Amino acid sequence: MEQINHSALGGEPKLALAGFGIDMNSNEQIEVLHLEVTMGGHAAVLHPFVIYEEGRAYLFDTGIPGSYDKLNALLQPDYPVAGVILTHQDIDHVGTLPQWIAAGGGELNVYAHEGDRKVIDGTAPFLKATPERLNMMLSSLTPETAQQFRAVFSADTPPNVTDVLQDGDVLALAGGLQVIHTPGHTPGHISLYHPGSKTLFTGDAMAVNDGQLDGPVPNFTPDYPLALQSLQAFLELDIDKVVCYHGGAFHGDIHGRIRELVASS
Ligand SMILES: [Zn+2]
Repeated sequence: MEQINHSALGGEPKLALAGFGIDMNSNEQIEVLHLEVTMGGHAAVLHPFVIYEEGRAYLFDTGIPGSYDKLNALLQPDYPVAGVILTHQDIDHVGTLPQWIAAGGGELNVYAHEGDRKVIDGTAPFLKATPERLNMMLSSLTPETAQQFRAVFSADTPPNVTDVLQDGDVLALAGGLQVIHTPGHTPGHISLYHPGSKTLFTGDAMAVNDGQLDGPVPNFTPDYPLALQSLQAFLELDIDKVVCYHGGAFHGDIHGRIRELVASS
C-alpha cells in the first residue's frame, strides 16, 4: 500500500480531515467530504465520502435537498459519478439523489439495502419525515428542485435502486469495501468498512459529538436498542479510525467505546 498520491488527481484534496490520510493504491483515492449545510435553521457539516477509481467517482450519501451544487463543487471535476451508495433512506442522505440521477442520464447505479429500498424507490413513505415536515423542507427549495425531489421519490416514476445490498457484500472499490447491515436508525441502514485502511464509515449508526464517539442520535432512531445492538458487529473489525456522517473522524479507543454503548442497550 502506498500513501495516496493526491497530486495525481489534480492538487490538494478538497478536504482531508486533519491527520486523516488513508493508505490506498495511488490510482485510487478515498476522500471524506466536508459539506456545509443549514439543517433546521442551524449550520451543520455533513461528511459524505467519495471513492475515485478508474476515472469514475462513487459517492457515499448525498447531503440534504438543495445541496447538489455545493456537493458537486467538492468533487474532482474529471471523474463522472458512476454510482451512489446510500447508507439509508433519511432525507439528509438521499437529498440530492434526484440531481445525480438526472446527471447520470440513466446510467447511474444506486446501491441501498433491501430494508430501505422501497422508501428510496418512492413506493413507501419516508420513515421519519412526515408529509408536513417534507412539505416544509421542500418549500425552502427552488420549485424545480422541489419538483425533482417529489418526482424521484414517487411511485409514479421508475425505481431508483439498481443494486440491492446485503450484510457481508463487498463492493469492488478501493480494494474492497465491506457492507455491514446496522439496523435500528432505519431498517435498512448500512455501514461500510474499508480493510485496506482499517476505516469504518458508520453512516448514522454512530455520531461524533464534541469529540466523543456516540451511538446514533436517539431522537431520530426509532429502534434505539436495536441500533446499539447493531454496533456489536463493529467489534469484530480491526478499526483504526471511524468516520461518522455527523461529526466526522474519530481516533481513540474505538472498541472500548463501542463495548460501552452495546452494554448500555
Ligand atoms: Zn443523518
